[in-house]
Amino acid sequence: MKMISVTSTRHSEMIDITSEVQNLIPANIQEGICHLFSTHTTAGLTINENADPDVQSDITKFMNKLIPWNDSLFNHYEGNSAAHIKSSLMGFSQTIPIKDGKLVLGTWQGIYFCEFDGPRSRKVCMNVIKED
Ligand code: ZN
Repeated sequence: MKMISVTSTRHSEMIDITSEVQNLIPANIQEGICHLFSTHTTAGLTINENADPDVQSDITKFMNKLIPWNDSLFNHYEGNSAAHIKSSLMGFSQTIPIKDGKLVLGTWQGIYFCEFDGPRSRKVCMNVIKED
């Protein structure tokens, strides 16, 4: 397993980790599966458009609108229930096929680490499984 370090600089943001993931695929893997897992309860992983940065800020803004930081329903003592809910909705893992040693992503797809309670230092676990 490999570990990718991610340092967020804002409270909520999407950080493109596509090139780091691609660079960590071992040279001997031509076909297989790349599995990514976030080990945090207030951050997630997603795949979405990497061409227009407004897509990432629109997703972040909409998540903030959908799940406000303060809500009278929340009892969690840490005060970050919004981040826990957002990360559960976004999900903690992604699985991407590998072909010819490259991640199989659409032209406009990038892999994003989604910070919901930053800034913080984060980790993403990466496992690569070789197809026989
Ligand atoms: Zn909490």
